[in-house]
Amino acid sequence: MLEKIGYTKCLIPSSSPLVQSKSISIMTKTILLLCIACYTFAGFSQSSKPKLVIGVVVDQMRAEYLYRFQENYTENGFKKLIREGYNLKNTHYNYIPTATAPGHTTIYTGTTPANHGIIGNSWYDRKSDKLIYCAEDFSVEEADYPLNRNAKNNAMYYARSPKNLMVSTITDEIKLASNGRAKVIGLSLKDRGAIFPAGHLADYAFWYDIRNGNFSTSSYYTSKLPSWLVDFNRRQIPDSLLNLTWEPFLPIERYTNSTADNVSFEKIFKGNENSTFPYDLKGLRSQNGDFGMLMEVPFGNSLLTRMALTTIKEEKLGEDAETDFLTISYSSTDYVGHTFGIRSMEIDDTYIRLDRELEGLLNYLDLHIGKENYLLFLTADHGASDFPKYRQEKKLSGNFYDLGEIKKKLDAHLCIIFGEQPFIAHVDYTELYLVNELEKREEILKEVGYYLSAMIDGINEVFIPSLPTLTFRIENQKGLFENSHYNGRSGDVHFYFKPGWMAKKEYGTTHCNPWASDTHVPLLWYGNKIKIGSSVKKHTVTQIAATLSMLLDIPLPEAADHQPMAELFR
Ligand code: ZN
Ligand code: ZN
Ligand code: ZN
Repeated sequence: MLEKIGYTKCLIPSSSPLVQSKSISIMTKTILLLCIACYTFAGFSQSSKPKLVIGVVVDQMRAEYLYRFQENYTENGFKKLIREGYNLKNTHYNYIPTATAPGHTTIYTGTTPANHGIIGNSWYDRKSDKLIYCAEDFSVEEADYPLNRNAKNNAMYYARSPKNLMVSTITDEIKLASNGRAKVIGLSLKDRGAIFPAGHLADYAFWYDIRNGNFSTSSYYTSKLPSWLVDFNRRQIPDSLLNLTWEPFLPIERYTNSTADNVSFEKIFKGNENSTFPYDLKGLRSQNGDFGMLMEVPFGNSLLTRMALTTIKEEKLGEDAETDFLTISYSSTDYVGHTFGIRSMEIDDTYIRLDRELEGLLNYLDLHIGKENYLLFLTADHGASDFPKYRQEKKLSGNFYDLGEIKKKLDAHLCIIFGEQPFIAHVDYTELYLVNELEKREEILKEVGYYLSAMIDGINEVFIPSLPTLTFRIENQKGLFENSHYNGRSGDVHFYFKPGWMAKKEYGTTHCNPWASDTHVPLLWYGNKIKIGSSVKKHTVTQIAATLSMLLDIPLPEAADHQPMAELFR
């Protein structure tokens, strides 16, 4: 009971000799008085809400990184969240593709692409016969900003909004419930990592501009950047970070749970001869995307932490009684993963450094907001898989698939049966769209289903939404396709590959499959009212929004899973 109402620090265990002493009544009174003093001083109670909620998404973080790299973590980053917070150890995504935009959207809407509509980072649009980027919105442009005013192609980078997001987010709900008083801000290096978490009603979503190293936003949020951000950009922190050398943070012999530094399936930066530390960024940046290169090294996370601390201070987040909401999405983890792979020394080092970033963030929050006054959760938008070449070396199953080849073979097969004509408008990692005008559509779909299932190596399961009874459904993947299909946006056919299969690439890793490698993510809760503990019960990421809703006493996002993570409330 005492623990529930936030007295944890004042609790003395019942096994303590103090409780068993003769002066028990005096001691009890003293304890109670102390507790009341704590209560009054800290100004919180069971009904007290946090002044600030912080949602941290670590892009591409596999749940196992909490443990595999743990011996090199400090006591004050990930380990503090585990030790002093609640660890939901078995939390998963439940749709395909497990990718950045659907992942972030699912966390904050509490539902899957079938409802929120963000079915991928981009998708094929039947009406325009074009690919649509998840956050594109050509009715908006870059927010007014003197340093960027004449920059070319602003539309490409800042024609962005949550327009394509079809349901409310938990951040929308806090805005509505507070009659607009709660401040909501989204931050990430990626536009989609900032925009979808912050929702439709956000004050701001800021993301990184690879052309100049600035943070900016679109006119959806504001016509003018806050002056503190103009000042922050003038400091040109990315420029300083890109003049550093990326060396292992710890002595190299401590990286015992990653592969050798120089393996054949790591990307070699232009200007380098191999993929080993140290990386002289100053010498490499001009050939490797200049400001864009910051995304691919851990210093991109350092920049985001500084941006987060500046945002909290300058926007006065958590300073008044109204609960504010800051969403932070660390992107460099994803780029380093794609570049070097999930067992590389480079990803190991990136997490060792991110752990120190978290330490800095938590220290700042403890000092300036107070641990009981903020609520923090940390999760990921998806995991990532082992590179097929590595799996083959280890005698595990799996291989590469080539979508171009699959499309060619399928087209040839359909031509033999139905005659020469265009059949396939678009195919991506999990979906296939037929061209709009097709006679014998149903017959063609049946043939596509047969061919993909029976003739293409590696495909595990195929689903045709218009012919659902045709599909043989695998027991432990029930609901997967239904959670993934958004009417009017999704393809005519859904499919996914067996474990260990990956779209053809030269190095690193990727994600999008429905297996544990890509679905299993960390979920840590910490701070205000959060008790200490852990649970191995299986949860889906869709339950995060309902949990926030119950913790904050605000409405569920409209399409959210109704089931919060009950362990936190017992
Ligand atoms: Zn991602
Ligand atoms: Zn390496
Ligand atoms: Zn990725």
